Amino acid sequence: MNKIRQTRNAQLFEEPLIFELSQKGKTSFTIYNDDLEDIELNLPKELLREDINLPEVSEPEVVRHFTRLSTWNYGIDLGFYPLGSCTMKYNPRINEEIANNSYFLQLHPALEEKYIQPLLKLVFELQELIKTITDMPAVTLQPAAGAHGELTGIFLIRAYHKAKGNSNKDTILIPDSAHGTNPATCSFAGFKVKELKSTKEGTLDLELFKNSIDEHVAALMITNPNTLGVFETQIGEIAEILHQNDALLYMDGANYNALIGKISLSNMGIDVAHLNLHKTFSTPHGGGGPGAGAVVVSDRLKDFLPGPIVEYDKEKNYYYFSNPSKSIGRVKAGLGHTGMLIRALTYILSWGNQIHKVAEHAVLNANLIKKELEDVLKVASENPSMHEVVFNHSTLKKLGYETIHLAKTLIDYGFHPPTVYFPLIVPGAIMVEPTETESPETIVAFTNAIKDIIKRMENKEESLKETPNNTFVGKIDEAGVARNPILNYFTK
Ligand SMILES: *Cc1c(COP(=O)(O)O)cnc(C)c1O
Repeated sequence: MNKIRQTRNAQLFEEPLIFELSQKGKTSFTIYNDDLEDIELNLPKELLREDINLPEVSEPEVVRHFTRLSTWNYGIDLGFYPLGSCTMKYNPRINEEIANNSYFLQLHPALEEKYIQPLLKLVFELQELIKTITDMPAVTLQPAAGAHGELTGIFLIRAYHKAKGNSNKDTILIPDSAHGTNPATCSFAGFKVKELKSTKEGTLDLELFKNSIDEHVAALMITNPNTLGVFETQIGEIAEILHQNDALLYMDGANYNALIGKISLSNMGIDVAHLNLHKTFSTPHGGGGPGAGAVVVSDRLKDFLPGPIVEYDKEKNYYYFSNPSKSIGRVKAGLGHTGMLIRALTYILSWGNQIHKVAEHAVLNANLIKKELEDVLKVASENPSMHEVVFNHSTLKKLGYETIHLAKTLIDYGFHPPTVYFPLIVPGAIMVEPTETESPETIVAFTNAIKDIIKRMENKEESLKETPNNTFVGKIDEAGVARNPILNYFTK
């Protein structure tokens, strides 16, 4: 950590004292002396340690320490969070209200179905709504994240080919515009990966794709909209060619924001797709919290889905578990991350039959950013933008700066930087995803900040290479932090 800046309350704590508040003899609790003797007597000697060396601090110091830390952080509840390929939307408070209902909080995951009917009803309804929204015949809500959903989907493809005796199908085609998890997932599941170079518009090269099809191809895995924020309009034709060769079509729908309520995955010929409930359906996922990757499948893959799935007996008004006939087995304990499922259902129900407006506003916001910035930054693809827009670094390079300087300076303007240097196919990529929850005023304040930074770059302000300056911690030594981490308070 370099220089610690003086901000509110920070003058009290000079580096390196910042986390060193411990003083011998301070405590955060009080126990009457009489009781203390009993407690000490009741503790078995072999469980007692003399040298535990925990920090000794008073209760107000603990509370203030963590409250102070929280104010040095940045989050969606504080400002715009335009990370591309992340869908960092505002999480409505009602989601938390419902997910924190004591009934859901206190259920044991191993309870029999007859004791958890309300929860099963909730999961069943979410299954039905995800099927309706995507127009697909079957779904599993078990996977714990997007990448886990991908792995589940690729296992389904593997099971399908195995059941058909397609032993030579060992390769999956992946465009170079795919999300990084796609090739990782395929090789983890034992497939060979063949990368397809995109056209200069950033879409799948149809000729190259046709020439790559042979008896080894098990599937194509395509991110749509792709990581350039562009919709793959040839998807129907792509599906047809794959199916003629008994190969399947996997669509990475992690960022379903632009498509929600607008398209039918069945009509597009998709066999399997995962949707990140912790992006499109509002659960916040920054900081690596729990996620949920719903996987929807076509009739070809339905019987292979992980079990159990929740079904409903209308006559008995009873919800029950069922296992698909050729199930690949469980991919997660219990029903998956039910807290995320509750939030997703709440989000969908609060939009009701207006949920397509999410897509409309998200696309409008991305295009507002494109329009505002296209004179100062070079757009990576001329095709219409969906939920996000990607720029390259050519303007910045010409002025003697890098993408990283723009990103770090934005922090001084009070904005979280967009995703940078991804996708890899765009030099010095700046990938902005606004989502539907931002107002036009916020969007324009953000694009104005970028314009202002570029103007300062034209004036050759050298200080822009040393930003941020207004944060509690300045430019950090990223390599040093990774190599010499300080992981607890007394290691120095
Ligand atoms: C976020 C994302 C993933 C991975 O999702 P995780 O929940 O982080 O595992 C996969 N594909 C795309 C296109 C994504 O944006």
